[in-house]
Amino acid sequence: LAAADRNNPSFAEDGPLCEEAGGPGFLQVDSFKQGGLVHGFFNRHGGSSAGPFKTLNLSLGVGDREAAVRENRLRLKKALGLSTLVSLGQVHGNKVLVVDIEPAADLEVDGYDALVSDRKCGLMIQQADCQAVILYDPLRRVTGAAHAGWRGSVAGVLGTTVEAMVDNFGTDPADLKAAISPSLGPCCAEFINYRRELPEWMHDYQVRPGHFDFWAISRVQLWEAGLLPQNIEIAGVCTRCNTDYFSFRRDAITGRCATVIGLND
Ligand SMILES: [Zn+2]
Repeated sequence: LAAADRNNPSFAEDGPLCEEAGGPGFLQVDSFKQGGLVHGFFNRHGGSSAGPFKTLNLSLGVGDREAAVRENRLRLKKALGLSTLVSLGQVHGNKVLVVDIEPAADLEVDGYDALVSDRKCGLMIQQADCQAVILYDPLRRVTGAAHAGWRGSVAGVLGTTVEAMVDNFGTDPADLKAAISPSLGPCCAEFINYRRELPEWMHDYQVRPGHFDFWAISRVQLWEAGLLPQNIEIAGVCTRCNTDYFSFRRDAITGRCATVIGLND
């Protein structure tokens, strides 16, 4: 099986890639550029955090100063034109939060790894090597976002997220667009204990001894959930190789990047 696309040209930079230029930097993908819909795969630049969290750390759970994280979240909302953000205390599971009322203020809810919504608000995933997968149903105007590290992939979080869009909003998976964020690539996704940790079907995605292509695994999981191949985009940027992103594998003590999708109109 071929490795998933690397450095997909459909993903382009928006915002500066270095701190000197100011403001958060992020990637956007063509298929999600639609009226009233905003999105961004943020890198680590353009924030206010210091030390290992330098500079756009969006996580309140990694030891960074709360004031810096709040400021970073403000900058992110400003960059996308969003008034509120819903985020999660992620646990590497497959539970989906349904946001069916417009939140009055920012909200962070523990115990979930995905969100779906038809309301005006931003949905934020926080990650350092894990995948963030954004989903959009342009017919029913429903947004989705999922956090998929290897544990989430094993737990099938992409499938439960699509299911939540179908069950709560009547989405037809064939209408859905999906995009997979920068995350740990097949170059760096080494699993020494894969025989114990990964189910047997995933062993087919071993690209060299002990290294797995989780981009391709997610693509297959999205196909199985009913998405069409042409509606799935993969950024193909490895966060451990590319120092513009926080990487847990590279640095251990580090921040979390944000991936956001939301309706603002
Ligand atoms: Zn890599």
